[in-house]
Order: sequence, then structure tokens, then C-alpha cells
Amino acid sequence: MTIQKFFPYINNKMFAEDVALSDIAEKVGTPFYCYSNTAISHNFQDYKQAFANQDTLICYAVKANGNQAVLSTLAKLGSGADVVSEGEIRRARAAGIEANKIVYSGVAKIESEIEYALNEGIFQFNVESEPELELISQVASRLNKTAAIAFRINPDVCANTHAKISTGKSENKFGVPISKARIAYKQAASLPNLKVQGVDVHIGSQLTQLAPFEEAYKRIAQLVAELRSDGHDISVVDIGGGLGITYSDENIPSKQAYAAIAQTQLGHLGCKIIVEPGRSLLGNAGVLVSSVVFVKTGEERQFLMLDAGMNDLIRPSMYDAHHEILAVDISAAPNQTKTYDVVGPVCETGDTFSKNRQVHQSKSGDLIAIMSCGAYGAVMASTYNTRMLAPEVMVKDDEFAVVRARLSYEEVINTDSVPSWV
Ligand SMILES: *Cc1c(COP(=O)(O)O)cnc(C)c1O
Repeated sequence: MTIQKFFPYINNKMFAEDVALSDIAEKVGTPFYCYSNTAISHNFQDYKQAFANQDTLICYAVKANGNQAVLSTLAKLGSGADVVSEGEIRRARAAGIEANKIVYSGVAKIESEIEYALNEGIFQFNVESEPELELISQVASRLNKTAAIAFRINPDVCANTHAKISTGKSENKFGVPISKARIAYKQAASLPNLKVQGVDVHIGSQLTQLAPFEEAYKRIAQLVAELRSDGHDISVVDIGGGLGITYSDENIPSKQAYAAIAQTQLGHLGCKIIVEPGRSLLGNAGVLVSSVVFVKTGEERQFLMLDAGMNDLIRPSMYDAHHEILAVDISAAPNQTKTYDVVGPVCETGDTFSKNRQVHQSKSGDLIAIMSCGAYGAVMASTYNTRMLAPEVMVKDDEFAVVRARLSYEEVINTDSVPSWV
């Protein structure tokens, strides 16, 4: 069992920093997401230190968790943003992240989004295809602006991660194949209102080994040399994100070791390095707190039925992801566990957080913490089954604040409207 550093047990009760999770539950109800501000800051500072001897811009991948309180925390620490939509540009800007620290990724940017990004003055478009390149050139020409671009290169490297979060193999939809890169850059140099400045790569998420990064960066370094000999002025290498976190017993390489790989493979190029971490900044900075609704005894199993479901946290259903599931208060019997299937209330068999899991013996009303939920948790939530989105809470030291409130049923239902002809 791994305990997240900023969610310790104190006298057999789980806290977020110095706040008892039960105190938050009493105030906001369950389920709710809870983030540790200090954990986010620590993770960011770790990256900063790891890359201190390289000219690096850390661009937090907003899609991991776009809450304004999270983005403001990172903005104040000097973070830039890796965004994948106009909405994420707007979120990043609203939280105070400077436009010239924003890189824009994403496989199918549309014209209005490109226009918005150009008007904001973002640092770089990470271009994923030739048609997208042409569209960016057209929009920039119309606006009389220059778009700084890098191609996202698909290096055909296996990331050894879950198939749904692997992005750097030739069969994936992402990026321009490395074999076609020189032709693509040649085209870019010939189009108006573009400034070719960089090369970008992102091979997947939740990587637990450094070797795939090493292989990808080696291929990118080779490509940069070729592009320079073709006459392109390459001054930026965006190394993507993807460093994993410990969900259960994964042994994740340190950020220092990861940065050292970048230095070894790319340092000699003298480029500005952009790194786009998402999960490794937020994942272990958050938990999802839920209540046991019922303990149900089936024919063969005991079900721990929670008030959080797959609409709140979809990772177990979608990626077969493992999250530690811990009772918040273990004071009654600190060492007494039972085997449960831990499930949610949604009408889908897939609404299962874990099968045959040892959890503290629990009863109706007890609080359960689903761990490592700070990244790809709240952002992927939906109102399926007309369940309200779980509120989000941030803790710092002994203070906490609701950073996204639970909407009322009226607010959610009133977003629909009925045409007169129905
Ligand atoms: C999702 C994504 C990231 C962040 O990935 P993590 O695994 O969360 O670090 C970075 N860059 C791009 C282009 C992405 O799509």
C-alpha cells in the first residue's frame, strides 16, 4: 500500500496536509476531489530543479487538471501551459499564464481556435499534419501575423504503456511520421506567415521507464541535425510529457534521471527545451473522497457500493487503471481488512473501481479515499446518470477552499431547452 505524502494518516485518520478529510466531507458532502496545493508546488519545484542546468520552459499540460486554482498555483511558480483547445488557452490565460509561455498541441485544431491563439500571441503551435500547417499559414496570413511552429514528430517508438495512452507509434493518429519530417519542414519554410522554430515529440502517458524517452530523443536529435543542414533554424525542442506516477507499486524514474536523459540526448543542440508534464505534477496531488452507501452481500462477493462512480472517475473503466482505495478513518480496527468489489452507483457493469480488493472493513456512511486522482480525474468527469459533477477542494496547510462548487440539479437541467414545436 502506498500512502501519498501529502495525504497522511494522523492518529489513524487520513488528512490532506493539516486538514482532516472528514472535516471537508462534513462541509461539502461526498463525493469530492481534494487537491494538495503543497504537493503541486513540490512537484513543480522538483521539475524546476531537475532541469535547472538546461534552458527549459515547463509547460504544464492543462488537460490533466484545468481547475483555475491549480493553474493559478502553477502560474505563480512560473509555469507555462501545454494546451489542446481554445478552451484550455482561455483557462490558462484566465489563471494568469502568459501567452508567450503557451504551446498549442492537438490533432485537429479548427480555424477559430487558430485565430484565437494567434491573437493571444502564443509561443508555439505544435503542428500535427500538413493540412493543419496550411490552415495555420492561411489564418496567419489573413490576420497579418506570424505563427511560430514546430511539427509534432511521431518517432515510431513504443512507450510500453496502456494502448489508449500510447501516442508515439506509427499506427497512432498523432504527429508527422519521422520519415516524412524533412519534406514537411520544407513545405513549412515555403508557406507564408510561418516561422519554423522547433521540433516536438510526445510518445505517451504514464511511462514507467526511461528507455522509450531516450530512444525518442535520440531520433529527434538526429532529425534536428538534418533539419539544420537543410537550412532550418531550429531553436526549440519540445520533449513532451508522459513521465508516470506511482499508482500502486510502479517504480518511477526520478525527474532528475528523466532530465538527465534530455540533457544527454539533446543538450549538444543548444536548443530551448520545453517539457510538458501533466500527470507527474498533479496525479499524486489529489484524491477522490467518497462515502460508502451500502455494503451489499452478493452470492460470491461483498460489494462496497460508493457514492462516487465512473462518471466521477473514469480511469478504472476506461484504462483498467489501478487506484489505491483506502478507508479514511481506520481507528476502529487499524489492521482489519476485507475483500470487496468496489463499485459505483451508475447503471453500467463497467462502473467498477476494483474487483477483489482488500479494503478496511467498512460500513454504510464510512468515508473512502480513492488515491492518485489529481490528474485525469475531475477533467474527465461527466454528468452521466444526471449525477452532479463532484466539487473540487484545495487544501494548503490547515486551510481548505472549495475551488469548484457542486452545481444544483436546477442549474444542470436548465441548460437544456425544449423547442416550441415539441
Ligand atoms: C497529454 C499530453 C501531455 C501530458 O501528458 P502526461 O502524461 O500527463 O504528462 C503532454 N503533451 C501532450 C502533447 C499531451 O497530449
